[in-house]
Amino acid sequence: MVTTRSATGKTPKKVTHPDFIETVQRRKRTKRESSEEIKPANAEITVVPTNGKGKDTVITSTEDKHAEFDFGGPIGVSCMMVGFPLLMWYLWICTTYYQGHLTVPANNETMQDFLLRLYGHFLDGAFPDLKSWRIVWGFLIFEAILYVTLPGVWTRGLPLPHLNNERLPYFCNAVWSFYTTIIVAAVLHITGIFPITTLIDKFGSIMSVSIISGLILPFLLYFYAHITKSQHRMSGSFVYDVFMGAILNPRIGIIDLKMFYEVRLPWYILFLTTVSSAVRQYERYGYVSPQVAFLVLAHWLYANACSKGEELIVTTWDMFYEKFGFMLLFWNMAGVPFTYCHCTLFLANSAPSEYQWSIYYNVFVYFLLIGAYYIFDTTNSQKNRFRQQMYGTLIPRNAFPQLPWQTIKNPTYIKCKNGGTLLTSGWYKYARKIHYTVDFIQSLSWGLITGFASPLPYFYPLFFFCVLSHRAYRDIQRCKIKYGDDWKEYERQCPYLFIPFVF
Ligand code: NDP
Repeated sequence: MVTTRSATGKTPKKVTHPDFIETVQRRKRTKRESSEEIKPANAEITVVPTNGKGKDTVITSTEDKHAEFDFGGPIGVSCMMVGFPLLMWYLWICTTYYQGHLTVPANNETMQDFLLRLYGHFLDGAFPDLKSWRIVWGFLIFEAILYVTLPGVWTRGLPLPHLNNERLPYFCNAVWSFYTTIIVAAVLHITGIFPITTLIDKFGSIMSVSIISGLILPFLLYFYAHITKSQHRMSGSFVYDVFMGAILNPRIGIIDLKMFYEVRLPWYILFLTTVSSAVRQYERYGYVSPQVAFLVLAHWLYANACSKGEELIVTTWDMFYEKFGFMLLFWNMAGVPFTYCHCTLFLANSAPSEYQWSIYYNVFVYFLLIGAYYIFDTTNSQKNRFRQQMYGTLIPRNAFPQLPWQTIKNPTYIKCKNGGTLLTSGWYKYARKIHYTVDFIQSLSWGLITGFASPLPYFYPLFFFCVLSHRAYRDIQRCKIKYGDDWKEYERQCPYLFIPFVF
């Protein structure tokens, strides 16, 4: 909602760019210095951006207490903590050993034999050997080094009730990290120090290390929080608190672990894995098929989009409210990179001759991706930049790609009674959640490019469809309460939700 000093009669002077400091060359500084530097004397938070998770944006310290169990409580989260890793191994076995078909017990096979068969595959291709531990943790440490050494921008999070509404500083340099990662990966490959094809060759083992790390770390963080007494909003259930996390803002120096895990790990690993499969294909066949090239493009677009918009993640619900437990940690370290990549795995395990689509089909899927990406990028930009315009904090950035219609000149909007604003022009005029629709279409295109021989490349779009539907529903409920009649007027002016003129 709105946090203002007007109630105290101290109307602050307007700060031109209170949240944002570009630092091209960054000297070493302490966390305290950084925090002070970006905090303007008259910092006022007038409107705070979105979270989309069914709670109001600014919460009081009394509300910032554990209230109810989500995800089916301790039993539900226990099932997820056991089930997710097993599902990931199972899907990997199906794509690696059964041409992407879901393997089930054979007629003459007992359940025990079936499980032993799966276990044999695990030992064969997914045993977490020492080299894989080195790769995963070497990558993690490398990204951490980039985080603290490359230039970037400083911004601030939302006010935290338990810290007297202090707004933590966040350092964002994912764009630099992303391209440095690509250059270093290329150099390591060309020099033979670390052929990038290792990622696809050792996919199973690397995935296992990520899964095991993603399982162990939340427990360690829980005990660390207990020892250092840095727990926050605890439920009292051990397993539930491990799942949801115990620490709200885990940091090592300037590295905010939640930011680190949300952008750098999942999307860079996914992108590098796909590049790895492209290089492997080139080495084997002398060319890269249009389908594999498509996935390289698709995963680059997504990783790049997350990187160039990193500073916008700072004010999301995940950063502001969610703690750092199994849910965020495991999903970003293991879930996203190793389940969203089944399109890549399917193509990597098939000869190009097995998936030869007509040129028209390929062109269609390419257009689908690029068109969906364009709307995805510009819709998110339009709203974020509109809100920044409203706060007077809009700073033009040149991160590639800058697309036409990312910023709406003279936007129309509803000035709400609660002090907020709702954009009614740009893509929002055509559909209020069109960015969800096109994000889903992107995920669907990742599957479509692989054809229809295997259901596994469609795991991500199916899963994502459920995530986005649930997310949209909860967001709308929250906004209805938050904006009341203004929301009705918004729905009247922008009548379509997902598909313009249809739905
Ligand atoms: P939105 O960008 O739709 O944010 C919703 C919030 O925006 C609302 O709660 C409201 O917050 C504000 N808002 C809604 N309508 C308007 C309007 N007309 N004008 C101004 N503000 C408005 O959703 P998300 O943050 O969930 O998603 C952002 C993007 O991230 C999407 O493209 C989504 O597809 C993607 N995403 C991707 C995921 C992945 O795993 N790949 C996971 C989740 C999301 P308020 O008014 O309170 O500020």
